[in-house]
Amino acid sequence: MCQISRRKMLLGSAAAITLTATHPKALANPASPPVEVGKVENLAPDIYFHEGNLALGHCNNGWIIFADYVLVIDANFPSGAQVILPKIRALTDKPIRFAFNTHHHGDHAYGNQVWIENGATPLAHTGVVDEMKKYETGYYGGSPGRWEDTAKQRKDVAAAKLKPPSLLFPKDLIFDDGKHRVELMHLGIAHTHGDALAWLPNEKILFTGDACVNGPYNFVGDGDIEKWIATLELARQLGAKFVCPGHGVFGAESLLADQQAFFKALREGIGKLVKVKKSPQQVKDSVAQLATELKANAQIARYVSERLLMAQSEKVFMEMTGQKFPETQKTSRDAQHWHSHQHGLELVVA
Ligand SMILES: [Zn+2]
Repeated sequence: MCQISRRKMLLGSAAAITLTATHPKALANPASPPVEVGKVENLAPDIYFHEGNLALGHCNNGWIIFADYVLVIDANFPSGAQVILPKIRALTDKPIRFAFNTHHHGDHAYGNQVWIENGATPLAHTGVVDEMKKYETGYYGGSPGRWEDTAKQRKDVAAAKLKPPSLLFPKDLIFDDGKHRVELMHLGIAHTHGDALAWLPNEKILFTGDACVNGPYNFVGDGDIEKWIATLELARQLGAKFVCPGHGVFGAESLLADQQAFFKALREGIGKLVKVKKSPQQVKDSVAQLATELKANAQIARYVSERLLMAQSEKVFMEMTGQKFPETQKTSRDAQHWHSHQHGLELVVA
């Protein structure tokens, strides 16, 4: 099952720069914004959003043009970085000084080398490097890790080098030149143990990385769903008007509520079964029914992927009981495989 429409893929490959009229008109109805894959969206003066092409594994990006430099949100895969670099260059000749990794995953951090070669310093919350130490074992002197696995499937990664962020902040980091202010902040565990968000208080725009997505893209293997819900609660308290997710179309504040509601409903569904002491096999067997129930809820239906839901349900079950589903290895392998698929690894091999 492919979640990416052919139209979206075609739009992605067209990748033309089309600036919309500078707001607030374009954002008058943020619930259905005029955003397309590969299009540069001018959210506010000097603030841009770019929806990545999932068929190529690319994440969404943002960038802010300060008085003297540019800050890029997320490094993307190397090929994704190459897609947006000329789009930034077309807007400004100010130096791109910083590339912020919202978390450690390849589609958000493996392009760091591209940004370094273009004069930028990759930066992140300290948790990103802690996560890399867990999963990028090849880089840190152990057996091959995720980079090496990914390099087998992606030419852009095979041709590059892993460059962990070298400018780290333990909790917050603020960019403020008097005109623009960007607050990078770690609000807690969510999609990973090291997520950070970029909050623009003047414009009330929030870039979330994969702590919030808009569609069936929630890989939960490196995070904690219960804590994720609490972290989203803190994010909601910022009072964002516009939310730029890690994947999918940007939206209004309600996007955070939708993402949170999906996880709450998932925990509720599994929690009911745990309460009546269903066995791991019985809970596993109930996942198809749970998918039907979740899809019936209009607020969260777009988050439900039947294949991902198995791993998401197992994760919740493990958080609640400490037990895995039977044939767990296969399930988590499936989820990894699906995550790779979602991030385009198979599609770019050819
Ligand atoms: Zn991602």
